Amino acid sequence: MHLVMLGPPGSGKGTQGEMLAEDLQIPHIATGDIFRRAVKESTELGQKAQLYMNRGELVPDEVVVGIVSERLREPDCKKGFVLDGFPRTVGQAKALDEILLGLGEKLDGVILLKVEKEVLVGRLSGRRVCRRCGATYHVDYTPPRRMGRCDRCGGELYQRKDDGEETVRRRLDVHQGQTEPLQIYYRERGLLHTIDAGQSIERVFTDIREELGRGQ
Ligand code: ADP
Ligand code: ADP
Ligand code: ZN
Repeated sequence: MHLVMLGPPGSGKGTQGEMLAEDLQIPHIATGDIFRRAVKESTELGQKAQLYMNRGELVPDEVVVGIVSERLREPDCKKGFVLDGFPRTVGQAKALDEILLGLGEKLDGVILLKVEKEVLVGRLSGRRVCRRCGATYHVDYTPPRRMGRCDRCGGELYQRKDDGEETVRRRLDVHQGQTEPLQIYYRERGLLHTIDAGQSIERVFTDIREELGRGQ
């Protein structure tokens, strides 16, 4: 299955995308993760992306599309993928259609995670991420067993620089302006599945599976 996770920052794209990918045995590809790794390794891409990310702005389409296009050509994507954080603009969505056409594939569905704005701010300000393996926690909703340490690998948990209140508000505005038009793009193509993502993590996952016809 070739799926896209759509939704504002904090809606649970990473959390649900990871669970879904494991369930379907396909890779979970998050552009934010790719950029954060590049920033950490201080590659040319990382240096370019960092300026935008710290401001809560989108990295320019041509940079993002090149990276995704390379990643989707990797052999592990043959069976499908869960894309998270891409596309974020209508331009990127059109580029994705082109990439898939070139690979002889097409999108099977787009999962739209809907959550109220005030809930998003609470989720983002409490989000903690493992520096080593990228696993995501929340100080109140999904705390690690040992404070500040990753359950999976023991790595140090940190707060993303762009999860500070001011940048969060900027990111939510950018989402509304640049990413919401995508909902129309995919609705018109009959691909959009809207999910109430304000519920518990397990409940949201069950609803997604049902939407995809995988419920028990
Ligand atoms: P996104 O990738 O869309 O930005 P994340 O999956 O990183 O969102 O989730 C944002 C934060 O909210 C994380 O700290 C995560 O643990 C927490 N979270 C995700 N889904 C839920 C949920 N359904 N209920 C409560 N907290 C959640
Ligand atoms: P969140 O999980 O909060 O939705 P991400 O980790 O997906 O955030 O993205 C973090 C930042 O990385 C974005 O604010 C943006 O600067 C950059 N980024 C990630 N994906 C894209 C994309 N598809 N297009 C442009 N910028 C992106
Ligand atoms: Zn870890």
